[in-house]
Amino acid sequence: MKIAELFYSLQGEGALVGVPSVFIRTTGCNLRCRWCDTPYTSWQPEGVELALPQILDEVRAHPARHVVVTGGEPMILADVVPLTERLRALGLHITIETAGTVFRPVACDLMSISPKLANSTPSGPWAAQHDRLRIQPDTLLELMGRYRYQLKFVIEKPGDLEEVRLLLEMLRADRERVILMPEGIDREGLRERSVWLAEICKEEGFRFSPRLHVDLYGNQRGV
Ligand code: SF4
Repeated sequence: MKIAELFYSLQGEGALVGVPSVFIRTTGCNLRCRWCDTPYTSWQPEGVELALPQILDEVRAHPARHVVVTGGEPMILADVVPLTERLRALGLHITIETAGTVFRPVACDLMSISPKLANSTPSGPWAAQHDRLRIQPDTLLELMGRYRYQLKFVIEKPGDLEEVRLLLEMLRADRERVILMPEGIDREGLRERSVWLAEICKEEGFRFSPRLHVDLYGNQRGV
């Protein structure tokens, strides 16, 4: 399985923010978000081939009870199914971070789905494929129906909320599981967006998520 990075840190986003976790970051993605914060897994995918036992040894080397399988888009890889089954056999809590465009019958305790809004569409040759794939209602419903889930949206401007509301209505999503995060890869940009986004969350009953890893470590790999 091609892995971009494997590291121990704190979960930086979502309902489990702050929980010590081992991150397994696969490489490769079917989308190309304009503001992707891990371009080394999408625009220029990098990584090394690791066998399942090597990955499990690395996970076991850390004291965490939580493991996060992220990307890139881990759900495009068939090997994610045996990987999650083996992680479950270790008794770990498994979060999968996905854009929700592909379904696989993984073992998972929290399906962290981050559907990509129109603000993610790049210009150039990837635009058409990205826009065609970014919202897959049937896949989103299947993931939400089969797993405990959270829906995380990256918000760049207040106008993005219109698309969020429409999508939630279509999915009949539980608002308590909806989390809004500011777009940004530096502390200053996140701070500026957090101020108005927090007010939107208060008005509309959504949960706000910081991006703790950026606050703590800045825009770095392996954190
Ligand atoms: S889905 Fe995630 S990994 Fe893929 S391009 Fe978008 S932000 Fe990057």
